[in-house]
Amino acid sequence: VAELGTPTRSVITTCAYCGVGCSFKAEMNGDQLVRMVPYKHGKANRGHSCVKGRFAYGYAAHQDRILKPMIRERIEDPWQEVEWDEALAFAADRMRGIQAKHGRRSVGVITSSRCTNEETYLVQKLTRAVFGNNNTDTCARVCHSPTGYGLGKTFGTSAGTQDFDSVEHTDVVLIIGANPTDGHPVFASRLKKRLRQGAKLIVVDPRRTDIVRSAHVEAQYHLPLRPGTNVAVISAMAHVIVTEGLVDEAYIRDRCDWDEFQHYVEFITNPRHAPEANEALTGVRAADLRAAARMFATGGNGAIYYGLGVTEHSQGSTTVMAIANLAMLTGNIGRPGVGVNPLRGQNNVQGACDMGSFPHELPGYRHVKLPDVRAIFEREWGVAIDPEPGLRIPNMLDAAVEGTFKGLYCQGEDILQSDPDTHHVAAGLKAMECVIVHDLFLNETANYAHVFLPGSSFLEKDGTFTNAERRINRVRKVMAPRNGYEDWEVTQMLANALLKDSQGAKWHYTHPSQIMDEIASTTPSFAGVSYERLEELGSIQWPCDENAPEGTPLMHVNGFETGRGHFMITEYVATDEKAGPRFPLLLTTGRILSQYNVGAQTRRTENSVWHDQDVLEIHPHDAEVRGINDGDWVRLVSRAGETTLMVTLTERVAPGVVYTTFHHPATQANVVTTDFSDWATNCPEYKVTAVQVSASNCP
Ligand code: SF4
Repeated sequence: VAELGTPTRSVITTCAYCGVGCSFKAEMNGDQLVRMVPYKHGKANRGHSCVKGRFAYGYAAHQDRILKPMIRERIEDPWQEVEWDEALAFAADRMRGIQAKHGRRSVGVITSSRCTNEETYLVQKLTRAVFGNNNTDTCARVCHSPTGYGLGKTFGTSAGTQDFDSVEHTDVVLIIGANPTDGHPVFASRLKKRLRQGAKLIVVDPRRTDIVRSAHVEAQYHLPLRPGTNVAVISAMAHVIVTEGLVDEAYIRDRCDWDEFQHYVEFITNPRHAPEANEALTGVRAADLRAAARMFATGGNGAIYYGLGVTEHSQGSTTVMAIANLAMLTGNIGRPGVGVNPLRGQNNVQGACDMGSFPHELPGYRHVKLPDVRAIFEREWGVAIDPEPGLRIPNMLDAAVEGTFKGLYCQGEDILQSDPDTHHVAAGLKAMECVIVHDLFLNETANYAHVFLPGSSFLEKDGTFTNAERRINRVRKVMAPRNGYEDWEVTQMLANALLKDSQGAKWHYTHPSQIMDEIASTTPSFAGVSYERLEELGSIQWPCDENAPEGTPLMHVNGFETGRGHFMITEYVATDEKAGPRFPLLLTTGRILSQYNVGAQTRRTENSVWHDQDVLEIHPHDAEVRGINDGDWVRLVSRAGETTLMVTLTERVAPGVVYTTFHHPATQANVVTTDFSDWATNCPEYKVTAVQVSASNCP
């Protein structure tokens, strides 16, 4: 700070890392960012922050930033720096050429949960209004797409039901497949404070996460289930609650579909769901599971928090529905201190989903097959919208390998590093005739790109992010874009280059506030949102409309927003990814506090000091039988591929389970993850991979 001088002005903006959505004051000396100070009036963080938001912003000024557009004929050729006009014309010609030759559905886009709502809205509009298809998907495909499906089916709305503040009224905290200390640190502090005040804790996780170790709660249960058995554990909890008469029947009669509930009771009371019948399968002691279920049902206000340890499974969507069933059974939806809360990993996963970054849904989670919904956007955009749902990311890659999908615009995502089965992703990208990467850095995906469009960081743009509690926060431009343009401007320029010789109306947005006005006019849950209202209120939680002009902190207060709550049948089906003689261990993955996702940003900051490589956690018993010592290098092999990692011996993981993070490209954890995915949404099964571990030399 001393070197950078004394701040002379400050700008309030929002952290671009996790789904907590902390507000910061960016303190500036002229055009120089001096420091980020957590904003005490920020409604999501109230003056708190973690080491990512506070310190890991140096990547924006990093020398690796690419600031000029680049093109090349073939991926084997060297990159050639060109002016924006030339790059955009090159990209537009290639994409139009592909469509002319292979049909309008032969190209698509991938949006990013790191970009703003306005940018994401424009990218899906580009797909639908300019490319003329619905091949638009987002990185939520690989994280929270089962949340969208599961909560949509049960509650009618695809979002968390509570606000962060209301944890202060929670009596029993149930955390399933989430590690808030590392993934959502500021909210984890609030959870821990509530636990210190006496709230009870249940953690369902294969790993003894920090919150289990540090909460020091007397009434606490850690249910260390075997990876892949979430549905069996949650159904067993529901079985105990129903068979022991702990159901909140009045709540269900009042708010849920009664016939569906009775059907569910018939299903869940079957003895095959009893904890004792599942002990061998799940690895969870039946007595502990019974006690935890009783505590959840009778302990007062129960709130459920879950993360990717729920969604990234072949039964991710089923697990989300099982969680929703559990909340409805116990009447834990619709008042302060209770609810179901998907902890969103990235800053704007919620927003990317809200903005229609799905191949089957327009903004506001409305199916493209519905003519009256299409008509709203057809009027606004002046084009006919394809009624056929488009391709999801894995389908795009499969179709590319098969030769029917040829062009991709990928904004702010490094799919080669973040998506499962790296070899298959590479094969798909390599088979395409035009890959446009729009990003801050030459990422791994850019190895297969023909056009590189430089991106702008969150410090260089105006817009909004929506956090895990549906809170729309303003992102404010702190400094001019180093590459010359904000990302929404680049998408607009690409759209206009594509529309150059067509009759289609050109795009003329001059500020992201106009894009938000368009979102509000086409999307009912955003009807009352505008930049003026955001300035006035600080932030707004959707739905925001004439019934809730200041937004909606708690959802489903007077009954479910779209009618009645729906109990869904959630049968446990074992994943096909099984440990066996060749691959006897189960690998599961997660994050660490100082790093973020594939590390493209945090690795280019001083946060790397805290975590400079991914390591493999292994139980001492599993290490001993393999002759492995703490700090050794090992080969990690699955049927998809292999990598080399250093090990740490720990009892945080049970025998038979190993764990690693995925922040560093050198280790490429996704080389070993497989192509199994959620049955409903194709969300990859990152959390269960059968592997073998053996001693190796340092790579
Ligand atoms: Fe807040 Fe998450 Fe940013 Fe940390 S990473 S400062 S918890 S928004």
